[in-house]
Amino acid sequence: MHRTSVPLLWRRFKHHYRLLGNHCKTCKTDYYPPREICPTCRRKGVLEEKEFEKKGTIQTYSIIYAGPVGFDKQTPYAVALIKLDNGPVLVSQIVDAPFDQVKIGAKVTAVFRKIYEDGKEGIIHYGLKWKVV
Ligand SMILES: [Zn+2]
Repeated sequence: MHRTSVPLLWRRFKHHYRLLGNHCKTCKTDYYPPREICPTCRRKGVLEEKEFEKKGTIQTYSIIYAGPVGFDKQTPYAVALIKLDNGPVLVSQIVDAPFDQVKIGAKVTAVFRKIYEDGKEGIIHYGLKWKVV
């Protein structure tokens, strides 16, 4: 591994492990994932980093039976729209739960898990998934 790539990997890791988004000070809107510019305020937007609590509620969900390439070994799996307790809505996979526990209004919390394995290079990508509390 090239030495200069370590800080970059660490930055990515930090962003994957923590729920880091941002907040526009101009219109008081939260974003996750973080935006480069505020879509509402454009140039007037002042974005600052904001960490969200890894807690939320399922707003709606679906069970995926045929996943995209790279996710096919994980099917079937549940994907939900999660409203963060102190943040915006995001889309993520629900793990560690029989599907009958995945329901609208269920409380969820984030866990750090393998997202997918890059077959060719053998690189394992990690990130946040969610489980029912
Ligand atoms: Zn804004």
